[in-house]
Amino acid sequence: MVRNKKATAKNKVKIETRPPVVAVLGHVDHGKTTLLDHIRKTHVAEREFGGITQHIGAYQIEYKGRKITFIDTPGHEAFSAMRARGGQAADLAVLVVAADDGVMPQTKESIAHIKAANTPFLVAINKLDLPNVNIEKTKKQLSEAGVLVEGYGGDVVTMPVSAKTGQGVDDFLEMLLLLADLQELKRGEDKPFSGVVIEARLDKFKGPLATVLVKEGILYVGDSVYTTSAKGKVKYMADDSGEKLKEAIPSTPIEILGFSKVPKVGEQAKTSADEHKEIVERSQKLDIKQRISKLNETEIRLILKADAQGSLEAISQSLESLKTKDQRVNIYYSGTGGIVENDVLLASATQSLIIGFNVSISKAAEKLAEEEKVLIRKYNLIYELLDELKEGLGALAEKKEEETVLGEAEAVKVFKRNGGLIAGCAVKKGRINKNDTVVVKRDEKEIGRSKIATMKHRESAINEAGEGENFGLALEKKIHFTKGDIILAMGRSVTK
Ligand code: GDP
Repeated sequence: MVRNKKATAKNKVKIETRPPVVAVLGHVDHGKTTLLDHIRKTHVAEREFGGITQHIGAYQIEYKGRKITFIDTPGHEAFSAMRARGGQAADLAVLVVAADDGVMPQTKESIAHIKAANTPFLVAINKLDLPNVNIEKTKKQLSEAGVLVEGYGGDVVTMPVSAKTGQGVDDFLEMLLLLADLQELKRGEDKPFSGVVIEARLDKFKGPLATVLVKEGILYVGDSVYTTSAKGKVKYMADDSGEKLKEAIPSTPIEILGFSKVPKVGEQAKTSADEHKEIVERSQKLDIKQRISKLNETEIRLILKADAQGSLEAISQSLESLKTKDQRVNIYYSGTGGIVENDVLLASATQSLIIGFNVSISKAAEKLAEEEKVLIRKYNLIYELLDELKEGLGALAEKKEEETVLGEAEAVKVFKRNGGLIAGCAVKKGRINKNDTVVVKRDEKEIGRSKIATMKHRESAINEAGEGENFGLALEKKIHFTKGDIILAMGRSVTK
């Protein structure tokens, strides 16, 4: 059998970076499927053999000689499941918003998911072909929903498209590749294999079938594979066009036959049993109480679901009045309607607890919450809810927090950009993570403290820089860095 060219060892030295993996999210009916279908139809070359385009949960297209892998499971459920189970698959996200409809509830949910995952993204403003669409209005709504697009105080790129006519789609693909270039996605073929389960099912005849996206390393037929819940041996492997493969390189979506049971969507796949054990241990989640006392938890994170917008507002306001200066109650997402699986996945990914006010929980959500060890609390009276949260806050207050330094960097260069200051830094010790609070010190004295606004490496947004690495840093607060300042990434260790 002819081997797929992209997976031959001969080819791989020529290409410097791996194809970006892209997930598409957005409100129902805003055109995710149509956009993906359009791209697939126009940019997947007919392969000479096979001919049967079997549908797996991800596929690669080729645009101007470069590949892009799309995860074809529209909706944020898969995206969130991956995050919750540790297997972040997407390098880039696309938020699809229909220009005639604008920002809708699931658009907001998608934004919460993308932000929680810290995935670089762009917005495709779709249905451009419709009469009277107002792109500026959509952009304004996006900025109101916390997505600061270009022209509205931010740098999130928006691309107007029509998935129906194809207008703007090539420019959109071009922009995706540009964003991918900024990330400098390393090929990582020399690393041990790791992949993410994109979809999995039981085939009546073939047994468990899983679509896995290769993240790093190379997977060969005959390799043992392990996920948190399943293991097996790769008996057979095919790419998105059904072509049989002997090996699969990073960013390739593959269908694998050989698991002894159906793995779960979002799980990581590894070829080493040791690493597998490590993943299993890491994924054992603790309950809220244990979490607050054992982990570095210094805030209460919530996903809030209520019967009506009015209730949500009342609860949010009461929460504000509850907390004292140093107490952190972080509402990750709030919305109306019952508690569904998606809420559980977001809660698991963000380590939040779910508060339901006068709403029901779906059976599936209940089951998933049990599996993911997510705590769901339901209330019908607002004071009961507040009482319990007050206790939670009390428990937080009893704990003594000690600050520890997680990383140290030095500002080696300082320059102005967009009216703010950017420090070019070099990491001396540990690591600096985008989510850290940093302390800026000069001559051993603290001159300021802030959350990080952006971290970049050669114009590309990054989440973390390790020892010996350089990066550009902008802070949320105005702190006047000068060359030689020390930037410390602070963490909290909590003792009771
Ligand atoms: P999804 O739920 O986000 O996957 O949305 P779909 O792709 O299923 O699209 C929902 C509806 O919008 C379908 O009837 C599509 O034909 C239509 N649609 C999608 N994209 C466009 C577009 O660019 N222009 C117009 N006029 N209709 C579109």
